[in-house]
Amino acid sequence: MIGSLSALLAALSFAAPGGVPVAHAAAPKRPPIRHNWIPYGPKRKSEMAAYSKRHYGVRTNKLVPKVIVEHWTQSTDTASVISYFSHDVPDPELHELPIVCSHYLIDTRGRILQLVPLGLMCRHTVGLNDHAIGIEHVGMSDRGVMGNHAQLTASIRLTRFLRCSFHIQTRDIIGHNESLKSRFHHERVRALRNQTHDDMKTSTMRRYRQIVARQSCG
Ligand SMILES: [Zn+2]
Repeated sequence: MIGSLSALLAALSFAAPGGVPVAHAAAPKRPPIRHNWIPYGPKRKSEMAAYSKRHYGVRTNKLVPKVIVEHWTQSTDTASVISYFSHDVPDPELHELPIVCSHYLIDTRGRILQLVPLGLMCRHTVGLNDHAIGIEHVGMSDRGVMGNHAQLTASIRLTRFLRCSFHIQTRDIIGHNESLKSRFHHERVRALRNQTHDDMKTSTMRRYRQIVARQSCG
């Protein structure tokens, strides 16, 4: 990731929609975010567009953010997650390309890594990948994420920042386990229309959304 692309990525990670610098927008302060871009070259971009055509009917890899989906990784270390997202082979669950990823990864010490620019789709939630920003938390359970003060604090700060930057409603901040109930869920592949995962259930996300909603966008 070099040259003009890195300039574009930097712009995307600092700018609100319409190119308005976040510092001048009525949004919570941007939390510290470390860039740790995973490989996302022309082959992966083409695969993402083909995935979008198969699943959403439109050949594009461009993300249009309307939803934020919270996840946990079912792992205890950060490096293995980044490695998994970086090797573009068919995923072991659904056997599709490109390999899954998320836009952000929050480690157990509360450090926020951005792995993919927000201009690009990631495969992290069946039925929502064209509209969902993905946030992964290194962890093994809803309780583990909600009980880790540093990680939860970073997560809430990041989610508030994204919610306000992209004008996403609180009800559209969901857990992966809530994906089928999202008003933006759509899936052309019949066999996947009821596919979801166990991470971040409604009982957890009710609490999470309450905390996010304590601060308005200004
Ligand atoms: Zn998940």
